[in-house]
Amino acid sequence: MNTDAVKLLQGRYCNSLTEYSRFITREVNIGDVPLGGNNPIRIQSMTTTDTMDTIGTVEQSIRMVDAGCEYVRITAPSIKEAQNLAEIKKQLRQRGYTVPLVADIHFTPNAAEVAARIVEKVRVNPGNYADKKKFDQIDYTDLEYQGELERIYKKFAPLVKICKEYGTAMRIGTNHGSLSDRIMSRYGDTPQGMVESAMEFMRMCETLNYYNLVISMKSSNPQVMVQAYRLLVETMVAEGMNYPLHLGVTEAGDGEDGRIKSAVGIGALLEDGLGDTVRVSLTEEPEAEAPVAIELVKRYTERSQNSKFKSQNFGQESSLLTTHHSPLTHNPYEYKKRHTYEANAFIGGHMVPRVVADLSGKNLKDPAVLKDAGYIYSPLLDKYNMAEQSVDFVYLADALPSFTFPSNLKQLYNYNTWQKLADKTNCHPVFSLAEYISADTDRSSKLNLVRVQHADIESDEFGSLPFDNSLVLVLETTALHGMADQRSFFFKLEELGLEVPVIVKRSYEFGVMSNKFKNQNSLTTHNSQLTTMLQLYAATDMGALLVDGFGDGIWIDAPELPANVVTSTAFGILQATRSRISKTEYISCPSCGRTLFDLMVTTQMIRSRTSHLKGLKIGIMGCIVNGPGEMADADYGYVGSGTDKITLYRGKEAVKKNISAANALDELIGIIKDDGNWVEQEQA
Ligand code: SF4
Repeated sequence: MNTDAVKLLQGRYCNSLTEYSRFITREVNIGDVPLGGNNPIRIQSMTTTDTMDTIGTVEQSIRMVDAGCEYVRITAPSIKEAQNLAEIKKQLRQRGYTVPLVADIHFTPNAAEVAARIVEKVRVNPGNYADKKKFDQIDYTDLEYQGELERIYKKFAPLVKICKEYGTAMRIGTNHGSLSDRIMSRYGDTPQGMVESAMEFMRMCETLNYYNLVISMKSSNPQVMVQAYRLLVETMVAEGMNYPLHLGVTEAGDGEDGRIKSAVGIGALLEDGLGDTVRVSLTEEPEAEAPVAIELVKRYTERSQNSKFKSQNFGQESSLLTTHHSPLTHNPYEYKKRHTYEANAFIGGHMVPRVVADLSGKNLKDPAVLKDAGYIYSPLLDKYNMAEQSVDFVYLADALPSFTFPSNLKQLYNYNTWQKLADKTNCHPVFSLAEYISADTDRSSKLNLVRVQHADIESDEFGSLPFDNSLVLVLETTALHGMADQRSFFFKLEELGLEVPVIVKRSYEFGVMSNKFKNQNSLTTHNSQLTTMLQLYAATDMGALLVDGFGDGIWIDAPELPANVVTSTAFGILQATRSRISKTEYISCPSCGRTLFDLMVTTQMIRSRTSHLKGLKIGIMGCIVNGPGEMADADYGYVGSGTDKITLYRGKEAVKKNISAANALDELIGIIKDDGNWVEQEQA
């Protein structure tokens, strides 16, 4: 064991919780694109074509490389596909593409052994490399468990030896949903089980003096995924290892959901300096993934140049410990919502995080403006209907609306304006810290919001705040490493024992539109880029706090984007962090060469009939080999089990096997109805 390494992170998972500092890992050679060490964070993706379709796979790989992929992964479900990787590689090289190829292996050591002689890297899943999944619970004695490890070693060692001989790298890729029955029996469905699953294989590799490893800990639940990667780093370091990390959220879905979910998990880790390569898994064309991954990663290029530290640990370069400061009450491997008081039934306590929408710059003469905040006005009935995603507060700054608001929607005004309101019903003030102190008795008896920044916590004014049940803080930041800046504030509140609720506020300005958008097409593209940036940045910045239980509300200020986009992003972040459920969750795989139906079309079809089933989790998986395992905690599953054949799941149980694809969605809805989980769209 490398004791320096143990000291290095002091039992924690990253170099610093307060400054950006990349955790420098061992450099691993993958073809001519090295990974880890001081190399840039690499971008990668996976093909969705049939691996036996050589031309289709070559063409798709080229599109992926042109979109920014630095490695291309291709599935090899059996020996014949593994062999065909040679032809794919040959044709790519002939066309001038030297991109390293990665063979994706599940269940088939014989295919892995063929592929490892051809491609630059193989990915194995320790949950199924030498085990079949039967969902059995087995009580192993220590001796029996050791016997199982020896059985696995015998199956795994030949692949390691081939990789050593051919200079092939290997990813040991654990998936939350496909842990072996052996691991599940001993460690359960936990981050610890995920880590141990990989560590067993990593230790075997080291026994064989093979170190060309990359590790991943994926889950479709960003919270689990973040905890597992953190625990992996701490465990690796404790054992003197520093292998590069491949980051990804599995089965993230498509569109806004897929982007936000990916950013919450991947972004939270990147913020802490973890991650050497990123794959964003979207149920979209694979070339759509790289731009998202690039956008996520590019924020850290500037930050890493500002805070790079080197030492001689692990026999290679590694990161030095920098400032490290977190309260003992904070456990980064377990979710625990920060304990706060309930501010007069508005926010905090056990309530779900609140959403603030900024409508201050909008047309406040027309009640239709509230549609963007989730309140739909019917002029005929002169009443509002609430949508699934209705915000809790609207910030109007100093603008006064000329219509009546719905009674359950609270309005926030700047203090000076609030003071002058004749009728303050449902209206609450937003103060600066200085204003709040000097306002003394001229405050709301129910709810007062006070804007603060991290540095304020050291001030005399902050020290003199009366923390009664009406006070809620709005935490802002202008720091480059804003998430850590805001997290430090939460740590300090914990240390001071202050239970005041906090709304996390972030502001995004991407640059004013210029004349270059002369036509509608370029304007549409520009707006869609801004939308993606907002989804990724806000999900990273706020998601990283929410997965640790910090934040009683969120407030996104993005004046360049339509208010409905901002509202939807806010609710998407809360959904992805599972802190407030406002819609159906789809756990849909990105598809690959094993896929048995058109995943994008099928996902849209299922979504069109079930998107009103708030809170349900529906898995949509392309194949029966990995699908059932990978769906993790889905309530229902729609899984391809043959050409035009679907198997439907209730939880982990197959309830209808190999039914016709034509009836499968109706049958799925029938099962949901039988379970009493169906509501009609109109009711919803
Ligand atoms: S679940 Fe989807 S991505 Fe995973 S192996 Fe099956 S088809 Fe491929």
